[in-house]
Amino acid sequence: MAKETGASCKRCRREGEKLFLKGERCYSQKCAIERRPTPPGQHGAARQRRPSQFGEQLREKQKARKLYGVSERQFRNVFDTASKMDGITGEVFLRLLELRLDNVVFRMGLAPSRTAARQLVSHGHVLVNGKKLDVPSARLREGDEVALKPGAEKKAGFADVEKRMPQEAPAWLALNVKDRSAKVMTHPSLDDIGHSLNMRLIVEFYSR
Ligand code: SF4
Repeated sequence: MAKETGASCKRCRREGEKLFLKGERCYSQKCAIERRPTPPGQHGAARQRRPSQFGEQLREKQKARKLYGVSERQFRNVFDTASKMDGITGEVFLRLLELRLDNVVFRMGLAPSRTAARQLVSHGHVLVNGKKLDVPSARLREGDEVALKPGAEKKAGFADVEKRMPQEAPAWLALNVKDRSAKVMTHPSLDDIGHSLNMRLIVEFYSR
């Protein structure tokens, strides 16, 4: 499966914003955005200038793509699907990204980052409706139940999974911390998603 490569923190510094790609470290003072919030490279700080309209659209698209950790081709495919569906394209697009299996695993708190969630899925540690599903880009629907495969929690990295799983799940997920599972109750709305993406710029980028 295609995925984002390169140093995670550089991707955040390029976008000038935390993209939460490294789990625990992102919430600590070690976060590179806290320490050096300038674009990467020797002349990163000096290169800052007002972007063009196209530059703004491109950066917003790149920010969203890096946040969800998907390739350009996958990202474009999701946009094309969203643009053919009923509703406001930007909102539908974001909803489809949120409903990816790797993102849902991350939102459940089973993994500290989307990258780790993707690995968890592709290594076959996740069940959807009781069956193994190892496709991180699989799109979930209302009523789908996601759970950690029995026994997987004994592996390294799951010692604190109960602490990590949020006490209050996003409104669209019914979380069962004890069973390490969650059910998709409804489609996530823009308010539920809670990050600062400007979907209008992204739609404009692909509509040029
Ligand atoms: Fe981004 Fe996390 Fe690195 Fe901070 S620690 S720059 S949020 S990947």
